[in-house]
Amino acid sequence: MKIILFGPPGAGKGTQAKKLIEKFNIPQISTGDILRDAVSKKTELGIIAESYMNKGELVPDNVIIGIVKERLKEKDCSSGFILDGFPRTIQQAETLELEGIKIDGIIMLDVDKETIIKRNTERRICRVCGRIYKLKNMPQNGVCECGGELYQRKDDMEENIRRRIDVYINATLPLASFYEKKGILRNVDGCGSEDEVFNRILEALK
Ligand code: AMP
Repeated sequence: MKIILFGPPGAGKGTQAKKLIEKFNIPQISTGDILRDAVSKKTELGIIAESYMNKGELVPDNVIIGIVKERLKEKDCSSGFILDGFPRTIQQAETLELEGIKIDGIIMLDVDKETIIKRNTERRICRVCGRIYKLKNMPQNGVCECGGELYQRKDDMEENIRRRIDVYINATLPLASFYEKKGILRNVDGCGSEDEVFNRILEALK
């Protein structure tokens, strides 16, 4: 099962990917998580990526493509994977084809702009386990159940979200027609509870 989760920032890709990995027992490959990890460890990649990420811009294709190509060669990807946040440009999508990777389904999570802004500004993340909380169900002491500190991503601040939405519309949304032409795009309504959206995804993958 090779799945791409695609949609605007805050569409719920990360949350739904976590549910899919449990269901199908395949790894989630989140380029955002890989980059955040590199930023926190101050690696060469992290230093390059940080300035783009903080502004809500895309990290250049030549940087991200190499990382994903290497990751997909790892053993745990042999029976499938969930790509979360990749591809984000036509060039990235073409790379998957050039590598001979056949995708079974592209799930596009549709969410309106106001919901995107609300979801992103209200999102808090655990520095240790990566768990995502909404402000309204966040533990009152500001600490994750695993004991890790909760923080707001710089790129989740309102000004940066608006920039990320523009980047999504200009660079990433063209992927919808790219995959539609291939007949593998599945539009899924991303509004509603996590379980409602998850059930819609499972239906779309049938
Ligand atoms: P995400 O967690 O998927 O929202 O990604 C956070 C940030 O990481 C994005 O706003 C980009 O700056 C960068 N990023 C993640 N995935 C990609 C990608 N496939 N191509 C370019 N930049 C990316």
